[in-house]
Amino acid sequence: MIFPITDLLDDKESAAWVEKYFHPKGLRCPGCQTTTQQARLFRTHKRGFVDYRCQKCHGVYNLYTGTLFAGSNLEPRRVVLLLRGVCKGEPSTVLCQELGLSRQSVHKWRSRIQANAQEMLSESALTDADTETDERFQNAGEKR
Ligand SMILES: [Zn+2]
Repeated sequence: MIFPITDLLDDKESAAWVEKYFHPKGLRCPGCQTTTQQARLFRTHKRGFVDYRCQKCHGVYNLYTGTLFAGSNLEPRRVVLLLRGVCKGEPSTVLCQELGLSRQSVHKWRSRIQANAQEMLSESALTDADTETDERFQNAGEKR
C-alpha cells in the first residue's frame, strides 16, 4: 500500500528542518556569510522555498545553496522524504510512488545522497575497540 505521505507533510515545517539540518549555524550568504536578516526576499518559489538576495554582496541563495540539492526545484517535503527513504533503504519503486518522482530521478538522488554520505565518513579508525567489534558483529548477520 502506498501512503500519500508527501501530501501530508507541510512545506514550511520541512523547509525549517532542511535549513536546520543543512545549515546548523543558520542560513547564510555563501559569498560573505551574512545572515538572511541582511538579505531581502528575492523570489518565492511555488515549490515552497524562497531565494534571498544579499544586501551586502548581492548574491542570490536559498536553503539548497551549498548542499547536494543545489539547483534542485524539489519541494522541501520531498527532500525530507527522499533523505528519510534513502537512509532507511526504501526500494526505489516505493520512493517513486510515494514521492511522485521518476525512477531516474530517484536513482540520481539516491546516488548523490549515498556519495555525499560516503564523503562524510571519517577516514580515521574508531578509537574504541569495543565499538568496532560491535559493528563487525552487526554486519556479520545471524547465520553463525
Ligand atoms: Zn553576501
